Amino acid sequence: MSQTIAIIFDFDDTLLPDSTSELLESRGIDSMEFWRTEAKALLDRGYDPTHAYLNLILDRVGDKKELGPLSNKTLGEFGATLDETFYPGVKSLFRDLKKIVAGVSDQLSIEFYIISGGLQAVMDGSAFIKENFTATYGCQFGECPKTGLIKNIKRAITFTEKTRYLFEINKGITPGDTQENQYVVNIDVNERERRIPFKNMIYLGDGHTDVPCFSLVKKNGGIAFGIFRPGEESSARKAFLDFLRTDRVLSTHAPKYTKTAELGALLRIAVRNIAERTMVDRKQAEAELY
Ligand SMILES: [Mg+2]
Repeated sequence: MSQTIAIIFDFDDTLLPDSTSELLESRGIDSMEFWRTEAKALLDRGYDPTHAYLNLILDRVGDKKELGPLSNKTLGEFGATLDETFYPGVKSLFRDLKKIVAGVSDQLSIEFYIISGGLQAVMDGSAFIKENFTATYGCQFGECPKTGLIKNIKRAITFTEKTRYLFEINKGITPGDTQENQYVVNIDVNERERRIPFKNMIYLGDGHTDVPCFSLVKKNGGIAFGIFRPGEESSARKAFLDFLRTDRVLSTHAPKYTKTAELGALLRIAVRNIAERTMVDRKQAEAELY
């Protein structure tokens, strides 16, 4: 049986600059004002952060409103424009990791996933994402059947909700399986029969919503890397106080994925290490059988 390694990324500020802010700015909306004043006002009234921003977007959709007539299709078209904004080295990273894994054994494969509190329709508009990721999980809007414009929150991904999708990946449940049965993630799967063990996972994220995923992956033998922007004091503070001091990640880095950048170099070594360990474990298990 072939075995699989999974690299799971948060989206915004991990793979590329915040796509929702880019969307707002592209329609002439001040993203600072949106997050720091308007979203903050809803948080002060007790809104969950993800629900707050999704509602603020929906409030602005319509022919005469700031975001105009937005449908999931137009969100996808916007997503297609983001392909050139990915952080340095992302594209070469994917190529190199596949080569590294194939070089260790043809019994191994590597898959890439995104679990994000951002907008799934935007992610799925990217040709690079469509080509390289096995599945993406993000917030979804439902459309008005009459106008075709986005109207309702269909799915919001917040904090521990992100871990639900790690369990789906772990158990080998596809987005199609979940569409057929929203409760399928709860099925009982024996630890040994899970498609991708947590120890074969690497999780990368930059935000507070990533903390439950960091903890789940790390506690179960996988690797978690935190992303931060060294030039921004608030980002460095979050990385230090919330990720490093609380021991939730192995280390934190700027989002640079080239071979010679810290994070890019560590990811290539970490994947080789997981691949080699998986083959040793496998040989031992086979030896015990005979
Ligand atoms: Mg993020």
